[in-house]
Amino acid sequence: MNFADSEIVTSILSREGYEQVKDINLGDYILINTCAIRDNAEQRIRKRLRELRALQRNRPWVKIGILGCMAERLKDQLMAEEDNVSFIVGPDAYRQLPSMLSRIQQGDRLAETLLSDSETYDDIVPVRYDSNGITAYISIMRGCQNYCAYCVVPYTRGRERSRDAQSIVREATDLFDNGYREVTLLGQNVNSYRWHDETSNTEVGFPQLMEMVAKVNPLLRVRFATSHPKDLSDDLLQVMAAYPNICRCIHLPVQSGSAHMLKLMNRRYTPEWYLDRIDAIRRYLPDCSITTDVIAGFCGETEEDHQATLDIFRRVRYDYAYMFKFSMRPNTYAEKHLQDDVPDDVKTRRLEEIIALQGQIALENNQREVGKTFEVLVEGVSHRSDQQLFGRNSQNKVIVFDRHDIVPGQYVNVRVTRCTAATLIGELI
Ligand code: SAH
Ligand code: SF4
Repeated sequence: MNFADSEIVTSILSREGYEQVKDINLGDYILINTCAIRDNAEQRIRKRLRELRALQRNRPWVKIGILGCMAERLKDQLMAEEDNVSFIVGPDAYRQLPSMLSRIQQGDRLAETLLSDSETYDDIVPVRYDSNGITAYISIMRGCQNYCAYCVVPYTRGRERSRDAQSIVREATDLFDNGYREVTLLGQNVNSYRWHDETSNTEVGFPQLMEMVAKVNPLLRVRFATSHPKDLSDDLLQVMAAYPNICRCIHLPVQSGSAHMLKLMNRRYTPEWYLDRIDAIRRYLPDCSITTDVIAGFCGETEEDHQATLDIFRRVRYDYAYMFKFSMRPNTYAEKHLQDDVPDDVKTRRLEEIIALQGQIALENNQREVGKTFEVLVEGVSHRSDQQLFGRNSQNKVIVFDRHDIVPGQYVNVRVTRCTAATLIGELI
């Protein structure tokens, strides 16, 4: 989401004549887009600000701005504590940036952090500045109001709002016309996407939106993130099954396998509900990969709760997981009403157990792919050897193979010959 936001910021500033530089030592402004989801994300930004002091000593006119969720969360505090920061801009205030940049030239320090109920930046064409020219993100909604007990997002990104469906389709069409072959539709909970389309006087929900984007061109792959398990509908699975260019990959964050933890987290589903959704995915899309997010050591988590998480990992057999230690965030329900009572060494041990189990499962899942042939969208040259290319299959698994005369952006068929837990290795058919 931040990556997509940085592209919007770049677009807003380019329209006013600002230019992006590749070398930080050539810039007059340094804009740092930030995340507030866990404490360590914020600590990294604090460290970066300290490092930038040296650069500012040599180039004293350089102005530093903090953008995004951390700016929204800390506002004045950040201004008071970090005297080398000249401007602070929250996620809904990026349109103010050009005027702010001219005002800070007079030596003012400025903060714009008002959250909006309507801003979706739908008229702004993102500048794809760090792109491979083949895959791109499209933000389809902003904000979140699910208020999971551990999560800071509803406080930093404001109320949920959906973007005009026609503008999303236009953006996907433009990307395709410019050579892109894959788009990922982004939102905190894409299943609650809602738009009233004035021209056809119809309600567009997420399944309809997926269908509209899938119809842009059969050669355009469509992905999405993130689905909230409470809202993953059979309608969506049916649409996915009907369009081969909608990728066979669903990210369905489980967070915990314990009914008690899920309730405390305010996730609004039970492990049984979650497993029923997994069954539905397997029914409609037998070749779909499933990935997840999980939090180890949430407030009051017992050994039994932790075992329930390991158990759900064994049952679902995820292809990939983002695994985190719980980090208490200010203003959340957890901070106000619960105790961060799992000792850090216990959190670490539980996280390590989940990581070890998931590593084993991912390897076994990949081993089952050996011998199969997949259609791969080629993205670029492999990091390991310039004689090899890499791409992804519909399931979002990275596949490496010898390059021959293939170029990025092409679809090719690759037979998997061996694998690691993270990568499939294959040969061109
Ligand atoms: N909207 C998405 C999640 C966005 S945040 C969803 O609901 O699935 C990405 C992930 O960060 C979450 O799924 C969760 O696993 C993790 N996360 C969020 N807050 C956290 C916290 N306080 N401590 C640790 N991990 C957290
Ligand atoms: Fe956070 Fe929950 Fe919203 Fe995801 S759905 S962004 S975890 S509050």
